[in-house]
Parts: sequence; C-alpha cells; structure tokens
Amino acid sequence: MINWKYPYNSKEWITIKNEHLNKFPYCKNCFTTLNLQVDHILEHNNNLNLFLNKNNLQTLCWKCHGNKSLYMLNLKKLNVKDIKIKINLNVENGLNIEGNEFLFSDVKRFLNYGNFYVINLKQNNLTPSQVDKLIQYLVKFFITIKFISFNIVFNNAVEFDLSKIFKIRMGVNSD
Ligand SMILES: [Zn+2]
Repeated sequence: MINWKYPYNSKEWITIKNEHLNKFPYCKNCFTTLNLQVDHILEHNNNLNLFLNKNNLQTLCWKCHGNKSLYMLNLKKLNVKDIKIKINLNVENGLNIEGNEFLFSDVKRFLNYGNFYVINLKQNNLTPSQVDKLIQYLVKFFITIKFISFNIVFNNAVEFDLSKIFKIRMGVNSD
C-alpha cells in the first residue's frame, strides 16, 4: 500500500525508481548523467497504475525536469476559449505521433471547422510517452492560434484526460 501523503518514501517507489535509473542512467532530453531524477511522464495524481507504471517513467536531469513545467507557463498567458479540439485516433493518413519532434509548421494539420478543430492521428492506443508528445504538439498549436482550450475530446474512449493533464501542468485549479 502506498501512503499518498508520502508516496516517494514508499518501498515500491524506491525500488522502481532505482531499477529505472540503473536501466536509463542519463537524461532522456540532454543525455547528461548528472543530477538525475525519475519523472512521471503523465502526472500520476495518486493513481496507482500511473504511479508504478514502468512505461510512465523517464529519466530527466533537474534542469530538463524544470523545463517540462516551464513550457506550460507560456500557455498561462493565453485566453481560454471553449472551442472543441477533437482528436481522432486510428486514422490511416493521420499524423504519426511516434515521429520526431513536432514543428510549428505541423500545426496546419489541425483542420479548422470554424467552431471546432480536428486532428487525426495514425495511432490507435496511446502510450504515456505518446500522450506526452501529443501534449507537446497541442502546446505548439495553442501558442500558434493564441488561445488555449480545455475542451479536448477523443473520438473513442481513451483513459487519458488531456484537459485534466493540461490543468495540472499549468497549475490551474481542476474542477
Ligand atoms: Zn537534461
């Protein structure tokens, strides 16, 4: 059992963290081997499955770990609009989320239907790291269109609530 008051003191976490660091002893982002931390790709929010899921861990140095939250600060300056963002999965010609970093020019792949936007992705089931890439992509999209929307929906049931992840990362009160 995890004591959610002090989850990082738990035996389970210390074991899984050390295993991860032995396997990946360098920052995933800048490859340094100094000041390493094990980051949850998707915030666990006291969800046991995300907290102890090996696929939800990545090694980051303290600096890159800090930058992960930093890019969300840019979004805080934008107006929030209730425009729907629909994400369709399993679309044959859709964007491959496993590809390299998204460029700002990729943002034009969002289809604008006036009162909502659609983005098609090739993948069907998303892993935590693919969800993280999707979030990075959405950040660029929001910065380009100069607003943020928490009205993000998938075409089929997906266990990840992107709106909630955005709110947590931005430090916005979740309802
Ligand atoms: Zn780093």
